[in-house]
Amino acid sequence: MMNVPLNIALMLERAETFFPKKTVISRMKHGIVRHTYREIGERTRKLASALKQLGVQPGERVGTFAWNHHRHLEAYFAIPGIGAVLHTINIRLSPQHIAYIINHADDRVLLIDDDLLPLIEKVKDDIPSVKAFIIMTDESELPNTTLSPVYHYEELLKEGDARFSLVKDIDEHSPAGMCYTSATTGNPKGILYSHRAIVLHSMALGLADSAALSESDVAMPVVPMFHANAWGLPFAAAWFGTTLVMPGAAFTPQILAQMMEAEKVTLAAGVPTVWLGLLNELEKGTYDLSSVTRILCGGSAAPKGMIRAFEEKYRIPFIHAYGMTETSPLVVLSRLKSYQQHLSGDEKLDIRAKQGFLVPGVEMKVVGKDGDVEWNGAEMGELCLRGPWIADEYYNDERSKEAFRDGWLYTGDVVTVDEEGFIKIVDRTKDVIKSGGEWISSVDLENALMAHEAIFEAAVVAVPHPEWQERPIACVVVKEGKSVTKEELYDFLRPQFAKWWLPDDIVFMSEIPKTSVGKFLKLKLREQLRDYFANVQ
Ligand code: AMP
Repeated sequence: MMNVPLNIALMLERAETFFPKKTVISRMKHGIVRHTYREIGERTRKLASALKQLGVQPGERVGTFAWNHHRHLEAYFAIPGIGAVLHTINIRLSPQHIAYIINHADDRVLLIDDDLLPLIEKVKDDIPSVKAFIIMTDESELPNTTLSPVYHYEELLKEGDARFSLVKDIDEHSPAGMCYTSATTGNPKGILYSHRAIVLHSMALGLADSAALSESDVAMPVVPMFHANAWGLPFAAAWFGTTLVMPGAAFTPQILAQMMEAEKVTLAAGVPTVWLGLLNELEKGTYDLSSVTRILCGGSAAPKGMIRAFEEKYRIPFIHAYGMTETSPLVVLSRLKSYQQHLSGDEKLDIRAKQGFLVPGVEMKVVGKDGDVEWNGAEMGELCLRGPWIADEYYNDERSKEAFRDGWLYTGDVVTVDEEGFIKIVDRTKDVIKSGGEWISSVDLENALMAHEAIFEAAVVAVPHPEWQERPIACVVVKEGKSVTKEELYDFLRPQFAKWWLPDDIVFMSEIPKTSVGKFLKLKLREQLRDYFANVQ
């Protein structure tokens, strides 16, 4: 067979060649804008030529700090299209972590949405590697900013070359994208995605028994483009000629519902928090979402009641899926097998509320205390994965050896597997807290609290939350002879963390339960908190 390198430029070329009339619809500052794939192709090539003009070299990282919209999509193709690496930066990280990952990735250029400028201005003196800032704005003038040098995205495009050739003879293993994932402790960890991985992962999104993304779909990635490449949907959608609907900045459930109805969205993807919000919105309004053939939900466990409400009340099919930033992310997806269709409604829901089984192309093993666990739906073990779109290390990071061992990614997720191969996530080895699909490190909060002069011990655990899935609660033990109030502790934490990282409550305790080796026994602590809150209410 021919040894043709898989690459990102081929995906865009297909959109331009076969689907020049299909559209990308974005919610921007002054309303909805529509671009055809022909226009997206030209604009992407112009951006690629502009980046080249700015001196970006193959292999160098270009960061994006942006919402989901057509300009971000253009960056998705233009940056790898010149052999550089698209580094999507999570806009919700604390300034310290934002500066850390820009430095660690050694970003040369940053593309920034105008409304997000203040967040980069905060760290401007700490990111010396960045040689140019490109501002993505709908206004004709550049906004006032302390960043320098700054370029206007649309002005750069005006001077760009609409016929610029994107690189196709690239080694398919070379990096095309990069994303950082929050760690249990310490700084975020970087993952490089190769051209090959992105193409193969996109193909998996199109399989009939997977997300079945196709040309006839109207896909709305609600999942941010800085979260595992919006689950790869922008790449796959362009490749397949799928209409894309981009919800833009700071959307609300109402905006999502309106866009889904107006643009006749068929597939929408996001974390459970988004769908809980939409469910509330649907209860209020009279939306017609009959176009939706599936909602793809992952990032945190999808509550069974939510799946039931979407399907029974609103006739919107719901697909639960699982993945990680390290896995591109799609690896597991919950669809019934043909011979499970005869089961009762409740039985089917029980199965579909699990995370599902492997999509073709990846392998798994589940390692328990005594080796591989039995597939009996009860025995627990850590899920390990391998495959062509699964990372084999963290970028320049000592912590690689903890997660990547003997050719497998140790996910840190504890699962059971049933007889049919459906996995169910039962816990995390790391006790990280997932709030609205984003991670909060319990250990970071604990370390911060324990740095307070009046605090002896602090343990932070997740408690279930109806809107955000999980929220952190801090439990603290005050040093003998010292005293401190809740408010003083919040004042102490506030400058160190993003607002949404702050614990919902701080509970004072006489001691934190511990294991035999002196580690916090978080399971026990969660039980105690459950009792505590039951008594408080
Ligand atoms: P991230 O890298 O931010 O996408 O987070 C990956 C982690 O999210 C996984 O290791 C799981 O702990 C969790 N996760 C992802 N999808 C699901 C799901 N469907 N159900 C439960 N947890 C999930």
